[in-house]
Amino acid sequence: MIASATIQDLQAKTGHAVTATGTLLPIPDLIRMASHAYHYLALFDGVNGQALWLGRTKRIATADQRIMLHNKERGCTRPGCDAPGYLTEVHHVDEWAEGGLTNIDKLTLACRADHRLLDQGWKTRKLANGDTEWIPPPQLPLAAGTNTYHHPERLLGG
Ligand SMILES: [Zn+2]
Repeated sequence: MIASATIQDLQAKTGHAVTATGTLLPIPDLIRMASHAYHYLALFDGVNGQALWLGRTKRIATADQRIMLHNKERGCTRPGCDAPGYLTEVHHVDEWAEGGLTNIDKLTLACRADHRLLDQGWKTRKLANGDTEWIPPPQLPLAAGTNTYHHPERLLGG
């Protein structure tokens, strides 16, 4: 559903939004409906109507991309983490909020706890072989590395 509303009405929880079909929708109903939806937010200049910004709250990796990641990475890619793929989220190696693309070669699996580390100074990058390297913040006495936990065959050799 697409609905337009002013920020003043949203903040005051009064007034009406206008849907894409022209229906007036009370703001409290809009807020209730939005509580269980994926949000896109479009901002327009209130004076000249010029589009200023479009954002989305859902960073969407397709089912195909997830299947590829499960096959390649098998689990969380932070070194030493044993979280299996089913308990991971898809992380954009080039931070999505900074313009990262939802391309398979820029995605990796991270469990929820480790995904949050990336908001606390940790960085990730893709190596030439496609593995994800995790780089700790400089104040931590840890080395950068990849996770071999889900790939025992690499440790056993040929
Ligand atoms: Zn993890």
